[in-house]
Amino acid sequence: MSDCLFCAIAAGDIPADVVHADDDVVAFRDLNPQAPVHVLVIPRAHYANAGELAAADEHLTARVLAAAASVARQEGISDAGYRLVANTGDDAGQSVHHVHVHVLGGRSLTWPPG
Ligand code: AMP
Repeated sequence: MSDCLFCAIAAGDIPADVVHADDDVVAFRDLNPQAPVHVLVIPRAHYANAGELAAADEHLTARVLAAAASVARQEGISDAGYRLVANTGDDAGQSVHHVHVHVLGGRSLTWPPG
């Protein structure tokens, strides 16, 4: 999709600190990390949010989730625990409208979030 920041990152047109890439999914470090590990996992295909992705492509939804778990293992936070977040829509504060899963960890995380 033109004018989509994360489509441009997936295409390699905008640089990012990529930690995982395959045919379907790209994962890169968040520019403004909220935890020692903060990685964003996106499908290469453009869907506006998690609901749209899940409704359109169950297989790709599963690939994104599996990649998030794989990134957590790769980053060494699997055993200690981590949080997956998919902000969806305005009330959740979604600021980039290309579905992404935040992988957060590396410290004790508070709950509930604000
Ligand atoms: P959300 O608020 O859930 O839509 O999350 C969007 C995330 O994208 C925020 O945590 C931003 O820090 C992050 N972000 C924005 N631009 C970039 C970029 N160019 N590279 C990496 N992360 C970014």
